[in-house]
Amino acid sequence: MTKKLLVATRNSGKVREFSRMLADMAFDVVGLDDLGIDLEVEETGSTFEENAVLKANAYAEASGELTLADDSGLVVDALNGEPGVLSARYGGDGLNDEDRVQLVLDKMKHLPGWERTARFIAVLALVGDDVPGGIATSEGVIEGAIIHQPLGGNGFGYDPVFWLTAHTKTTAQLSGSEKDAISHRGAALQGLTETLRSLE
Ligand code: IMP
Repeated sequence: MTKKLLVATRNSGKVREFSRMLADMAFDVVGLDDLGIDLEVEETGSTFEENAVLKANAYAEASGELTLADDSGLVVDALNGEPGVLSARYGGDGLNDEDRVQLVLDKMKHLPGWERTARFIAVLALVGDDVPGGIATSEGVIEGAIIHQPLGGNGFGYDPVFWLTAHTKTTAQLSGSEKDAISHRGAALQGLTETLRSLE
């Protein structure tokens, strides 16, 4: 029987990316809703790694399945690392992705290009009985800069304002597979490939 791999996130943008990136592995990739898991894990950690580990442990225990969780976000140098671990909740309740992008743009509106450096960071945690040591973690980073106006309709979250100098595009202007090849989540997943292959 194909082994189940629970991708423990409710963010549909992330589910899409993980499903694409895991497509060539022999796992039955399932989401929280597929397993009827309505547990909400509070992200109380102060780092991406703490939150990824928290989520992976909690959802592995709730599901009994091999579980992959991630915590990720946008880190802007001129905002002292904000939105950081608060990326999904930046600005408080009631804001959507577009509002949060606008909030970042407003806070940075007087900054010239060279002061707009930023990065996306993702930490993945894989938890399961067969994972050596019970848990494996991996971090991926992609460097970029925040442009002045949103550009592009692909991706999710802060993608429309995340500029890749080498590509002269935002991550919202990349196709799915182009983004996977260079993204922070793609890089973090690469770091777990060997472990995942040994568990297929
Ligand atoms: P969390 O990992 O569920 O706490 O949320 C991460 C948040 O960071 C997302 O809701 C987005 O706002 C942002 N984020 C993480 N990765 C990306 C990405 O690849 N593109 C755009 N925004 C991202």
